[in-house]
Amino acid sequence: MTHKRKGRSRKSERKIRIDFRRNRARPARDKDWTRRLREGDIEAEDARLSENVVAKGDLSRKRTVIERENDEEAGVAGVVVAMRGLVAEVDDGTRVWPCTVRRKLRTRLIEERNPVTVGDRVRFTIEADEQGVENEGVIEAVEPRRGVLTRIVGKRVQTIVANVDQVIIVSAVADPEFKPHLVDRYIVAAHAGGVEPVICLNKQDLPNNVGAVAELEHYSSLGYRTLKTSAKSGLGIDYFRTALAGRCSAVAGQSGVGKSSLLNAVDPRLNLRVGEVSAETQKGRHVTTTATLIRLADDGYVVDTPGVRSFDISTVPAAEIELHFVEFAEHIPHCKFPDCTHRHETGCAVKAAVDSDHISTRRYESYCRMFEERITA
Ligand code: GDP
Ligand code: ZN
Repeated sequence: MTHKRKGRSRKSERKIRIDFRRNRARPARDKDWTRRLREGDIEAEDARLSENVVAKGDLSRKRTVIERENDEEAGVAGVVVAMRGLVAEVDDGTRVWPCTVRRKLRTRLIEERNPVTVGDRVRFTIEADEQGVENEGVIEAVEPRRGVLTRIVGKRVQTIVANVDQVIIVSAVADPEFKPHLVDRYIVAAHAGGVEPVICLNKQDLPNNVGAVAELEHYSSLGYRTLKTSAKSGLGIDYFRTALAGRCSAVAGQSGVGKSSLLNAVDPRLNLRVGEVSAETQKGRHVTTTATLIRLADDGYVVDTPGVRSFDISTVPAAEIELHFVEFAEHIPHCKFPDCTHRHETGCAVKAAVDSDHISTRRYESYCRMFEERITA
């Protein structure tokens, strides 16, 4: 498998260190957060997340990218769709190539605790085996990451998938019961990873649930993109398909809300298993840790990972949760105490906004629950 064509002359390379924009000591309180998120002007949140867990020097906050001087010969561009040990499966748009990582690059990425991962955009060169058959590649460069889904492994933040554009947060009108707190948690986790949350309310064919629809409208009024779908009747599926096209999406939500059904409705070739996850089988299930990307017919990827289940708020420090409640932003600067946690403090402008109905009581309670969970974690 690993017969390399030896002595092939390689173009001169130039190593460059790319600075992540330094984060301020205190996170910015930015009321334009969702807008900036949509426009892609976001900071390298993955760098900040790892900072919260492991103290890192300035140097390690940089990612090294090897840049070829002659771009045309810098190899083929592709996306890592799966990892098999040290082998990355790279999709160049027409086929998938098993690729190793150029040793120097691999060593450096490992030192930086940023090994190549699913979702990474890479450039690779194709090498021939002894028979002259070109069937594998070598990754020469990795692009800096944008949105990431992370989870905690031991004391470390691990990237499950890189370059995720959006998380489609699916819930259902009923069966299972609509739980807005869960939606809020996914929103916070998505924001923290620099990924746009899109809120989808499925099973619209079931009897109208006024409460759920009102919540969906509330999310919409906060500036989130929302979708109403029924995988059963087909309502909203075209719109759902358009939302996925050309982007890399993760689909999150409780078991049974219809995630697999929706993806099958969008692209029947996926043929995902529907309705087979019972509480019992879930417990006994082997927990796979690696994600894969599935290419959609309409150009775009969905993340297929049991790890999305652990994509949660566990990487978000309590003091930062307020940043991910977009409607709090304009009030926070008016709190009496700069370190106000908006719970018991006097002169809290957020609580005042709840009292005057400028912030929904339900969302506020959701914030308090998350905050308390994180400080006791
Ligand atoms: P997942 O666990 O989120 O992937 O959910 P599944 O796609 O496996 O669906 C769970 C159950 O809900 C299955 O019995 C589906 O047939 C059903 N289901 C999915 N979407 C809809 C829908 O839009 N309407 C109704 N009534 N049932 C649905
Ligand atoms: Zn306050």
